[in-house]
This record gives sequence, structure tokens and C-alpha cells, in this order.
Amino acid sequence: EKEVATIKELLRAFPDFPQKGIVFQDIFPIFQDPAAVKLLITHFERYCEEHLSKVDVVVGLDARGFLLGPMLACQLGAAFVPVRKQGKLPGPCISAQYTKEYGTDHFDMQLGAIQPNQNVIILDDLIATGGSASAAAELVKQSGGNILSFLFIIELITLDGAKQLPAPVYSMLQF
Ligand code: 5GP
Repeated sequence: EKEVATIKELLRAFPDFPQKGIVFQDIFPIFQDPAAVKLLITHFERYCEEHLSKVDVVVGLDARGFLLGPMLACQLGAAFVPVRKQGKLPGPCISAQYTKEYGTDHFDMQLGAIQPNQNVIILDDLIATGGSASAAAELVKQSGGNILSFLFIIELITLDGAKQLPAPVYSMLQF
């Protein structure tokens, strides 16, 4: 549809970034166009309202999930909770390991950021292997949260990452 085409046109592909063999999809041109940002957030908001129960918490993944997450959370009247790379969050944290397209890392979430039985969506710009989204899901589960859905702008479908995730996946664009 038209919204999807508008967002697709704004993406840029960078071959061999951050390493050889990876074609990196750059989402930052979207943020140079405020109308496109609004359209993107409204698109996600509509998906949540039409397909999910009331969202209590939007979890955004380090780092591009932080750009979209707070805006979507505001629109939904939900809380925003960041999942960050290890060592960046103050205070007691829970942690989960993940493997991504390039390298291994740990994700942290602040202890108590999600209350048991809260309805949670997990948001990021792109799903590749699904490793990072899956680690974020582990943190939500450790907190006792209920994962309603995963949301992405882009899904690299050849990597089949959605398959390992424990809730429905919505992606706006598939490559
Ligand atoms: P996964 O854990 O699913 O393998 O990788 C997804 C994570 O890596 C996301 O946090 C995403 O931001 C980042 N990532 C991997 N490849 C790309 C890419 O081509 N473009 C962008 N924007 N992010 C990527």
C-alpha cells in the first residue's frame, strides 16, 4: 500500500557495512522527513489497535528501537522500556545473551521495569537472524511480562528470524 511504498523509498542500502557481505539497510533518511515519521508511527499504532489487546509496555531495542519506541508508546498511552547493550544501564539489571548477524553480545533490562502480567510489544527497526529480539523476549519473560507481538520496519525474510520468536511478528517491509 501507499504508506509502505513511502517508507520503502526512503530506505538506503549500504553494501559491505559494517562488514563485508552485509547489505545494511539504513533507516535514518526516514527521520529527515517528519511526515514519514508520523506515517510510520501511525502505521504501527493502527496495527496495535486493530490486532492486539491493550499494550502496557513498548520495549525498544538498542539502538534504533529507541528512536521509534518512545513515540509509539506515547501514542498508545503505554510505558517505554529500553533493552540496552550490557553495562549501559544503572542499577540492578537482568541480562540475556544473543548472537547477531555479526558477533555476540548481552542485553540488559532494568530490574522491575516490567511488572508481572503486563502486556508488552517488542520493537526494533529490523529483524535479521532474530537473535536480539529473542534475547529481549527472554528478558520480558524473566520479568513476567506477556508478549503480544514483535514489530519491525524491515524483516530480512531469507534469514527466517521470525520463526524462533515466541509471539506473532509484524513487519512493514520484507526483503
Ligand atoms: P538480529 O539480531 O535479528 O540478527 O539483528 C537485528 C539487529 O541488528 C537489530 O537491532 C538491527 O538494528 C541490527 N541490524 C542488522 N542488520 C541491519 C541492517 O541491515 N540495517 C539496520 N538498520 N539494522 C540492522
